[in-house]
Amino acid sequence: MNPREPLKRVLYIDLSKKSFWIDEREDLFERWLGGVGVAVQLFKEEASKNVDPLSPENPVIFSVGPLTSLYPLASKTIAIFKSPLTGNLGESHAGGRSAIALRLAGYGATVIKGASQLPVYLVIKEEEVEFRDASALWGVSNAITVGRILRETAPGQGVRTIMRIGKAGEKLVSYAAVMTETYRHFGRLGLGAVLGSKKVKGIIIYGKHTIPVEDKKKYREVYDRLYKLSVESDAMKRYHDIGTAMNILPLNYIGALPTRNLNSSRFEGAEEISGENIAEKKLARRIACAHCPVACIHIASIREPYPDEPYFYKTTFISYDHELIYSLGSMLGVKKIDNVLRLIDIVEAFGLDAISAGVSLAWATEAYKRGIVTINETLVELDWGNVENYIEAIKYIVEQPNHFYTTLAKGTREASKHYGGQEFALNFGGNEMPGYHTGYGAIIGYSIGSRHSHLDCAGYRVDQTIKEPPSPEEYVEMLIKEEEWRQVLTSLVICLFARTIYTVENVVDALKPLGYDCTEDELKKLGEEIYLEKQKLKIELGFNPRELKIPSRVFETSTPHGLLRRDYVEKALQHYAELIEYKINTSD
Ligand code: SF4
Repeated sequence: MNPREPLKRVLYIDLSKKSFWIDEREDLFERWLGGVGVAVQLFKEEASKNVDPLSPENPVIFSVGPLTSLYPLASKTIAIFKSPLTGNLGESHAGGRSAIALRLAGYGATVIKGASQLPVYLVIKEEEVEFRDASALWGVSNAITVGRILRETAPGQGVRTIMRIGKAGEKLVSYAAVMTETYRHFGRLGLGAVLGSKKVKGIIIYGKHTIPVEDKKKYREVYDRLYKLSVESDAMKRYHDIGTAMNILPLNYIGALPTRNLNSSRFEGAEEISGENIAEKKLARRIACAHCPVACIHIASIREPYPDEPYFYKTTFISYDHELIYSLGSMLGVKKIDNVLRLIDIVEAFGLDAISAGVSLAWATEAYKRGIVTINETLVELDWGNVENYIEAIKYIVEQPNHFYTTLAKGTREASKHYGGQEFALNFGGNEMPGYHTGYGAIIGYSIGSRHSHLDCAGYRVDQTIKEPPSPEEYVEMLIKEEEWRQVLTSLVICLFARTIYTVENVVDALKPLGYDCTEDELKKLGEEIYLEKQKLKIELGFNPRELKIPSRVFETSTPHGLLRRDYVEKALQHYAELIEYKINTSD
């Protein structure tokens, strides 16, 4: 069998009717490769432009691509949906076993639509979908516990993925995440709330197929080359040794680590919460997504004494990375490793996106300290570094006992619209800021990126490699070019950490033994087309590139390139808007 055969199958699941069917969508996979390329098209087919993100009509698409299960680091699943956080296109990527399971179950994508009346969890087994009662699981707030229970009910370790939501998803927090396996997530943009609105507590997918390859000799040759690069390249070695937490110290050194709601870009506690220090004192083990030889997932352990039991300790394992240490550490002024890890643990248990949760708390702390909101709203005193009260506040975000927390559960854009403080509400297009205040590239990248994420076009990286920023127009075009190529990578689908390995030449080589004969130019053109499809879709869903707003705080706190100028960023955003309008108007 040709490896492309199973990829073209799309599993449709209608939760309202408790029905499912399989369609052969060769048309989509031939034209758009897989992953993001295909998922965007499936979303367009299913969703109307005014769809409410939390309504049954909002479809959730999971998709994989031609490299999934076949090459190292091709370990990610793409999720596309309408985001309750931004009110626009939602896109999130997760690893674990999700991608392998979906592909080896015989599918290139699954479309989940409708909503169940009662809580369910789905079990997908090749040609069969079970809608199992999850009433007993609904209300179990800890997503890790939910995973353990589902594991018991669904034997088959190693060949299945278990996705699930925590209480944050049930309570429709706009930045609720979906956890896969124990330490991976569809973190950003609120997929957890969308599944919560559909009353889906979990999804289990069994993947037991194998994928035959026609040209085994060539496949082996390319595989070995990519594998060697994966385990021997310096970039990947760093991901393995310390992980992305290696970024804390250098960012702090150059003055680019957002601290206390970006009142500063240097944190006096950076040494203590650095990746190096955590690795030395707390690292328990490293794990990997399926089919990844890098193992960048770092797990720390903390021991806490049981009250009244002096020699008994509870040991908790917590995964950490740069974004989590930034958002729940420096951004909140938390200086002790154990305290950062405790915050990560509770955010993880509730199933919240750590970046949005931390940045929302940072905004709330500043709003409280400035008297914009009072204890009547916050219910606890919010102060930098006050971890016990932050733990309480996280519980309130999930439980939403009053209007303030109901609004904060919708993110900083919504909260600041109601209560004030928009100038220090650190979101871009509604998505909370990642942990890099490196310069113009970062800020423009967060603004114009399709997901408003640092991973869209990595402007934060460019900032760190250039001496002087180019003109605003050139910067925008450089970032769009990068984002266009990333559309190919996320359609294949590979982990973006491996972007330096999957060069255009290597991608062409990797596709050949699988029966894809495409040139470098054709791949690049495809990237441009997918990028444009996403931009068009965003605009249809209500995004207006001319209405992008940048919080003033960004211009008040120094970066390694000094204080940023608003006129430079505005010029860049205007160029972006004109360029997108031009591209759309001149496309067929
Ligand atoms: S590098 Fe890390 S995130 Fe990427 S596939 Fe490997 S383990 Fe997963």
